[in-house]
Amino acid sequence: MKPVDRHLADILAVVRPLAPLEVEIDTALGAVLAEDVASPVPLPPFDNSAMDGYAVRAEDVAGAPVTLPVIGDVAAGDGGLNAVGPGLVARVMTGAPMPAGADAVVPVEWTDGGTARVRIDRPAPPGNAIRRAGEDVLAGETVLREGARIGAAQVGILAGAGRRRVRVRPRPRVVVISTGAELAEPGTPLGAGQIWESNSFMLTAAVREAGADAFRAGSVSDDPKEFLDVLDAQLLRADAVITSGGVSMGAYEPVKEALSPLGTVAFEKVAMQPGMPQGFGVVGPDRVPIFTLPGNPVSSFVSFVLFVRPALRAMQGLPVGPPEAVRATVTAPLRSPAGKRSYLRAVLTGRTVAPVTGQGSHQLAALAAANALIVVPEDATSLPEGAEVEVIPL
Ligand code: AMP
Ligand code: MG
Repeated sequence: MKPVDRHLADILAVVRPLAPLEVEIDTALGAVLAEDVASPVPLPPFDNSAMDGYAVRAEDVAGAPVTLPVIGDVAAGDGGLNAVGPGLVARVMTGAPMPAGADAVVPVEWTDGGTARVRIDRPAPPGNAIRRAGEDVLAGETVLREGARIGAAQVGILAGAGRRRVRVRPRPRVVVISTGAELAEPGTPLGAGQIWESNSFMLTAAVREAGADAFRAGSVSDDPKEFLDVLDAQLLRADAVITSGGVSMGAYEPVKEALSPLGTVAFEKVAMQPGMPQGFGVVGPDRVPIFTLPGNPVSSFVSFVLFVRPALRAMQGLPVGPPEAVRATVTAPLRSPAGKRSYLRAVLTGRTVAPVTGQGSHQLAALAAANALIVVPEDATSLPEGAEVEVIPL
């Protein structure tokens, strides 16, 4: 059997980062920056008031309470160059440019709010409530670096620095196809021998959680021809394809039967539990990577975490390593098959980890109740309660 690490290494040797392209910032969420972004101007671009209040000369209010004449208003967006002379004040709003001559803002709360004359009850030191030009970002300063994942705050600073378009590695477009004659769409009644189809929904969600775009192509029966037709139709829009089911040792294994003759997809036994039957390769003229995951739902899920998620990161130009793991003490004895690395579903609480009841690869409810995978190494067949184990948080 092939070691888990070698299977991942083989996958990562094939997948390539997607070519960068320029997108509008309002479609950039979830993409990864393919350039450094600098601000062309300082941010804020000019000194402005941090509060609604009065722009003053600090020395004029040092002896507060004082009453001073108000020469006018400066609103946010005003470009006019007001100046405040000695003994005078201007009413200013938050975000308004500081009038020349003023060196402090007195918040309206410290005054009687007057419009012709204002009584100021408290002194304000020089610089009070002023946001200085460049105190967030200097002109020319880099605000985001290549390789950063674009979340909401990153979209914010792109816009805030005046960028409308940005160069990114796009979210990979991933098509998910499940196979199985026994599968009924959730929301429809179950016939004899049927189960509700869950993998395509779960894997589609997993793809989205991984920052990629997912297209659920639904499920096909166990006819290799039907599978190939669906695959063909979907390839056009795919940067990667995930299939579930149809790759093990039985009869009616449509994925294996359809793809084996192509010679570009290897079907192998990987030394892991759950998830032993794995396939990976490329399909179509564009050599689109395809992950053929086993059909048991927990096997599919674990395979996604171990193999597909790192590959999606690589396609986005992000650094790839083994899944992040922590160490914890296990609350019950564990068993594991010799020669295979086990990924046991578990609940991690602080530094202790409890395996859930129901470690079968079909036991999806147990997976849904878990928040972590305990990793039991290939050479261990049992571990006592209290052993320290490696845990992958989910
Ligand atoms: P297979 O890998 O096709 O032999 O399927 C292994 C097991 O997983 C069988 O019990 C299938 O019924 C089940 N299975 C396969 N595909 C799905 C799916 N999409 N949703 C839920 N269970 C599935
Ligand atoms: Mg099947």
